[in-house]
Amino acid sequence: MLSVNQAKKILFENVKKLSAVKRSVSEVSGYVSADNIKSPVDLPLFDQSAMDGFAVNFEPGRLNKEKIYFDIAGEIKAGDKPFGRLKKNTAVYIYTGAAVPVNTTCVVMQEKTEVENGKVYIQTDALLKGSNIRYKGSQIKKGKSALQKGFLLNPGAIGFLCSMGINNIRVTRKPTVSVLSTGNELQSSGIKLTPGKIYDSNSVMLKTAVNDNGFETSSVNSVEDDKKKLSKYISGMLTSSDVLIISGGISVGKYDLVRGILESYGVKELFYKVSQKPGKPLYAGKLKDKIIFALPGNPAASLVCFYEYVLPVLRKMSGYSEFELKKEMLPLAQNYEVKGIRDLFLKAYSSDGKVKILEGQGSDILRTFAEANALVYIKAGDRVISKGDLVETHLLKV
Ligand code: AMP
Ligand code: MG
Repeated sequence: MLSVNQAKKILFENVKKLSAVKRSVSEVSGYVSADNIKSPVDLPLFDQSAMDGFAVNFEPGRLNKEKIYFDIAGEIKAGDKPFGRLKKNTAVYIYTGAAVPVNTTCVVMQEKTEVENGKVYIQTDALLKGSNIRYKGSQIKKGKSALQKGFLLNPGAIGFLCSMGINNIRVTRKPTVSVLSTGNELQSSGIKLTPGKIYDSNSVMLKTAVNDNGFETSSVNSVEDDKKKLSKYISGMLTSSDVLIISGGISVGKYDLVRGILESYGVKELFYKVSQKPGKPLYAGKLKDKIIFALPGNPAASLVCFYEYVLPVLRKMSGYSEFELKKEMLPLAQNYEVKGIRDLFLKAYSSDGKVKILEGQGSDILRTFAEANALVYIKAGDRVISKGDLVETHLLKV
């Protein structure tokens, strides 16, 4: 059986970045830039006031008094046309963001001024050349690199693009994802259960996990362990999506049909079964550039496999350079006895620089996942880990 590291290595090596698409900047948050982007303009676009106050033109040599006065020549609001030249020893009211007149020495904040009879009195210590002016091109010069190819776009970056007047860019496409859960016992919530049946938690849970991380689902379904029906769904998913997430039907039982069906469609198996707990019966396959996952049906195992294997694949396809869950070495909040010969992914809660392994680690137990914000990854081997020891913690949300 493959180790966790071997399985991840094989999987990630088989993932290809998707093609680039052009998109409006209002729709690229969480996407990765497919190009190096240069600024088409100087930013700020013109010399701009950083304060509400007065733009002044003063002569050097007038500074031997504590306060000096200037004639007020007018007013410039943000958005006003350029004012033209400012005469010597005059001032204009100016507001934040307004273009400063040519030959402005500095802008003085309103708090350091007093207005009387059409004149403004200014404390001389406020008359520092260039102060409170945002000079043209001081943020970025025209033609200079604004964002690198591979940059993960966030609201700040999108605002920056807008400020340069860029409204369309090329980003790496994100994968379309389809979800299918299988099991004769499954019923959707909202329907009265017949004896022996259970509610399907995985399809909505996995769909939510996909969406919550910024990816879209093209279909979400649940189907019985029926070869014909399963084949029909899987064939549809292979046509419509880049990544398939199937849950259940991948163990060794007579009604675990998924692996055989995938094989019949020409899906090449990358691995089946990983030495980990939970999630041993994890399957990953490939068909052209599509990646197909069959996750164990046990809900907590399914979700662990989503975070550790599926999510990194979605991110890698989207061009993320860091695609796995963020890892931190954190001190453990308790003593913990490690048992068994498989690597462990333990639902945990990290806060105040420590991590606590939660009660209830069974592969069927979702209650613990509801509380968890991290997974503690522990290599196989019987031993006790002591309180305060550093453990590898994978953060579910950053
Ligand atoms: P399987 O992987 O199909 O052998 O299922 C393993 C366990 O997970 C069984 O107890 C199933 O009833 C349960 N299970 C499978 N799929 C789901 C699902 N979608 N929602 C909730 N439990 C499931
Ligand atoms: Mg089943």
